[in-house]
Amino acid sequence: MSAESDATHGELDERAAKVADRVVAWRRHLHRHPELSNREVNTARLVADELRALGLDEVRTGIAGHGVVGVLRGAGAAPGGRVVALRADMDALPVKDLCGAEFAADVVDADYPGGPFPVSHACGHDCHTAMVLGAATVLAGVRDRLPGTVLFVFQPAEEGPPVTEEGGARAMVEAGAFADPVPTMAFGLHVTPYPKGYVGYRIGNQYAASALVRVVVTGKQTHGSTPWEGVDPMPAVGAVLTGVGQLYRQVSAFAPVTVSIGHVEDVGRFNIIGQTVTLWGTVRCAVESDMAEVQRRLTTLVEHSAAAYGAAASVEYLQAVPPVHNTRPWVESALPTLRRVVGEDRVVETGGTLGYDDVSEFVRRFGGLYVMLGVQEATLDPSGRPVPVPGGRGVVTNHNPHFYADDDTLVTGVRLHAHVAYDHLTGVLTAPEAERSGTGRSGQAESAAERSGQAQPGRAESGA
Ligand SMILES: [Zn+2]
Ligand SMILES: [Zn+2]
Repeated sequence: MSAESDATHGELDERAAKVADRVVAWRRHLHRHPELSNREVNTARLVADELRALGLDEVRTGIAGHGVVGVLRGAGAAPGGRVVALRADMDALPVKDLCGAEFAADVVDADYPGGPFPVSHACGHDCHTAMVLGAATVLAGVRDRLPGTVLFVFQPAEEGPPVTEEGGARAMVEAGAFADPVPTMAFGLHVTPYPKGYVGYRIGNQYAASALVRVVVTGKQTHGSTPWEGVDPMPAVGAVLTGVGQLYRQVSAFAPVTVSIGHVEDVGRFNIIGQTVTLWGTVRCAVESDMAEVQRRLTTLVEHSAAAYGAAASVEYLQAVPPVHNTRPWVESALPTLRRVVGEDRVVETGGTLGYDDVSEFVRRFGGLYVMLGVQEATLDPSGRPVPVPGGRGVVTNHNPHFYADDDTLVTGVRLHAHVAYDHLTGVLTAPEAERSGTGRSGQAESAAERSGQAQPGRAESGA
């Protein structure tokens, strides 16, 4: 590494330390004012205002809803040169905030489809947004030494928009957010219940392929006392819920799959056999190529269960998200950077998870990688599992109302983004072209362990 690089790395850290208090302030403000997917109006406004205040070359707003992209052209940026996209997601979840912090949210979205919902940053996207704003501040300060362009990408609807709306990472791509300049690397991270300041990475599928499933079972409405006069959809629903448990036994146990029906909506009453029952759920596959097979089997289960009880059924798969796939060349190229930022022994390999993150839309198109950042009062046991620190706040998964992230890890996230961006633009962190034109391959060329999200002791659970 050149002396100039070393000096710039040092300056990135100094500038990160200087912006740390503002990053905490941004994070707390965002945490107090969470907004659901595709409703990130005020979050996007704050982001755009802060990016403009930094004097970036461009601040693009209103992308695929409330997406924002800040463009920072370094002094050495040239057409066809390197372009790194740093991704932060901005949306919150319909989860009550029981994180216990004094900046906990007390927000209800009364108008959201299916609501009203309590709203909170139970997935930690407030941290991501604050970190990338911090990284923008840091990198804008060294723009005279940047031999390329940085895109600060603030993404709406990572958790999935309402089903009647479009949104999320793919919608940003389709809206042309990355047409000019085209990134040569995408980087993202997710806060996770791991020891504070630890980075978890995985070669292969870090996160699963996902699809939302909507099942509508239709019978014939009648009086509750005379079921033979109509067609009761409930027994078919019961058969579907039970039968889902057998799907696992029909695909290889070595590549995890889950099918969860999290929400059942019926239109009956205690004395009315209703016409329809709608089931909402999610299908996750550690290996993308299993997705079509699992969907085919689930559809068969639904249709035949309905037929067995004289009902009809329709099955739809929506909001498909490809797996987050980290290739070996990208990970190996990034490891020195990650280790420099958090320390050699704090960069650990983790298992895959069946969470999803549609950052996969960026990483598969542009190359790059995605890592986990530990933010909780945890330690790793001898087998690499995160366990609570005595007297601490415990190990709490994302999406749990008690999920929390410690403020003092935010500056580490700022440094990770800044160092990764600088190292890519200087050509230190990169991978051969062939490796970054990956099309979200499910990994036929890789080992079974790389392909699957197989449970490993150190797995870090988070994501959508
Ligand atoms: Zn998330
Ligand atoms: Zn999430």
